[in-house]
Amino acid sequence: MMKTISDIKTAFQNELSEVYTKSETEELFSIFCIHFLGLNKIESRYNINKVLSDTDSKKFIEAISELKTGKPFQQIVGETDFYGIKFFMNEHVLIPRPETEELLELAIGKIQEKTNKGQHLKILDIGTGSGIIPIVLKKYFPEAEVSAIDISENALAIARRNADFHKAEINFIQKDYLDENPDEVYDIIISNPPYIGIEENIEIEDSVKGFEPNIALFSPTSDALIFYRKIADDSLHYLSEKGMVFLEINQKLGKETLELFHDFSEAALLKDISGNDRMIFVRK
Ligand code: GLN
Repeated sequence: MMKTISDIKTAFQNELSEVYTKSETEELFSIFCIHFLGLNKIESRYNINKVLSDTDSKKFIEAISELKTGKPFQQIVGETDFYGIKFFMNEHVLIPRPETEELLELAIGKIQEKTNKGQHLKILDIGTGSGIIPIVLKKYFPEAEVSAIDISENALAIARRNADFHKAEINFIQKDYLDENPDEVYDIIISNPPYIGIEENIEIEDSVKGFEPNIALFSPTSDALIFYRKIADDSLHYLSEKGMVFLEINQKLGKETLELFHDFSEAALLKDISGNDRMIFVRK
């Protein structure tokens, strides 16, 4: 049967009411209208009686059944927006959170303020996932030499695709950061490592646990700070004089994480927009 945009909208509302609120459903409907039809919110309203091709209606029907399972829309459309630019996504990478935009904003501001223009900066991102952090940094600091580590070859495949798309030259390295020491000295170390502890695991929503890579979310051991301990230790040896570290952290472990950096000349715990302890800034 021929379907109009209005029929699809009704199907979204009826079929997704158990998984999403009404306003979330509205939002999802408009995301898919943009993605499949290239119509923004106003245009899809204006064209509400437009009849869709069979191919297009099929795409919407399939999207609805995927959404019903709780699959994040970013994985269904295969992309997301971060720091105002597009990134490819799939099930092998964490979907970027707004908190990480705040981390980048902090890092970009501090780097601009505290380093000299034209200085040949060496930057390292640990646990890069889809590559959002190094790619955004490379856009702001094109002269910098940017490296990014991840344990997952599948994640790095998406990161490389994102870097190619943005024409960002990044040195991607596949390795387990916990296993080895860095190869060189860096001026900037940045990371949003897995920081959810084993006992917190139960509090995480199924839509996150079931669809996003657990390796990107949960600490590999019972020590939720394992990455931060190594980063603090490595920063003593592999961070240049006056070098800086920027970390996204577990909101429940602010003080403990900050404590790991007591040997540095500057170490600050910063809050995110929701008022939670979320970032650490360190200067050597
Ligand atoms: N902030 C993410 C979440 O709550 C966790 C990110 C991470 O472990 N680095 O889902």
